[in-house]
Amino acid sequence: MAVVCPECDNPLDLNDDVDTGETVQCEECGTELEVVAVDPIELSAVDEAGYDDEDLTPLGTDEED
Ligand SMILES: [Zn+2]
Repeated sequence: MAVVCPECDNPLDLNDDVDTGETVQCEECGTELEVVAVDPIELSAVDEAGYDDEDLTPLGTDEED
């Protein structure tokens, strides 16, 4: 199944039985890509830094009274 990396346009060769929710890694740029759709196939970069951002949420911002 032909698809290109959304980050660097490198052609990726995915298995035909790839399913949504699976992740692949672009060998060209190293970006981890999640399969968000298969017909047509669509990839979305998994931004690992995004998870870290959640951890950086300052304490004391909750609206608890
Ligand atoms: Zn890439």
